[in-house]
Amino acid sequence: MLCLGIESTAHTFGVGVVDEMGNVLSNEKDVYKSKPGWGIIPMEAGKHHRKVADSVVKQSLDKAGVSMDDIDVVAYSRGPGLPPCLHAGLNKAVELTKFTGNLVGVNHCVAHIEIGRLTTGLKNPVVSYVSGGNTQIISFAEGRYRCFGETMDVGLGNALDKFGRAIGLDFPQAPKIEQLANNGKWVNLPYVVKGMDLSFSGIVTECIKRYEKGEKIENLCFSIQEVLFSMLVEVTERALAHLGKSEVLLTGGVAANKRLQEMYEVMCRERKAKFKVVPKEFAGDNGAMIAWAGILTYKSGQRINPKKADILPRWRTDEVEIGWIRKI
Ligand code: AMP
Ligand code: MG
Repeated sequence: MLCLGIESTAHTFGVGVVDEMGNVLSNEKDVYKSKPGWGIIPMEAGKHHRKVADSVVKQSLDKAGVSMDDIDVVAYSRGPGLPPCLHAGLNKAVELTKFTGNLVGVNHCVAHIEIGRLTTGLKNPVVSYVSGGNTQIISFAEGRYRCFGETMDVGLGNALDKFGRAIGLDFPQAPKIEQLANNGKWVNLPYVVKGMDLSFSGIVTECIKRYEKGEKIENLCFSIQEVLFSMLVEVTERALAHLGKSEVLLTGGVAANKRLQEMYEVMCRERKAKFKVVPKEFAGDNGAMIAWAGILTYKSGQRINPKKADILPRWRTDEVEIGWIRKI
């Protein structure tokens, strides 16, 4: 069985082809880039996705060495995400169901978790899911991926990107912050953990103020990473201890950050927990993760009628029935 998955929740239009065994046959993408100084403009990102859709689908099929006639299921990112972007993916997916009647809608956050489990071999991890728009500490319990902690305002990637934008970097700003941080020194910043939840936006504002007052950008890049990552690791450690689990999976676009990986390695070593990071190719938004979650969704018996297919821009991770896991 082959599934073609379409990712289109935000900046990335991605198309992947994955088989039933979890082999990734292709994973192609085209990423919308906003103009310097701007964040994502949803309508423009949606327009970008519509424009590139056919060519990314074609590239993905070519790379996999298959045609639409070989595809058994089409999966799309049903949410959460930006409505104009989600619509672009939905429309392309529905159009492609003329080749195969089978359509499934996938939760984007669940797809980040499942591609992480597939590629790292972890079975029952506490998941640190850190991307542009989302930041959640998640683990499986009784049929769902439950959120044990999450951001109360922006996602971790967006927090870093927003600070980066204020100091004149181009999108994606966070990897550039990672480089600049190598030459920075610690400056004291607020640390905002409330129970199991996190708040990033006030810290970003504080960093912007310090920058305007003349603090060196390298020092701010170093310190914003130290403080935001420490908050995240603290909450993950508490979830790990409380749940009595012994694996940690780092997934989502920010998982590519070496300093964050290092902090998790130290915490997990001290706790004797296994720690794995999703491979870079699957860290940011991508079509293969939607295709793999599509296979799992389809095999668990869920389907969407193409005539009634919709988007769920605010669909939470913990609202999804995880029909493919009985017991782990
Ligand atoms: P996603 O939404 O999962 O595609 O992830 C995109 C987010 O990951 C953006 O906010 C990027 O700035 C961020 N990101 C990518 N590479 C890194 C990195 N090396 N360090 C921190 N954040 C990163
Ligand atoms: Mg994402």
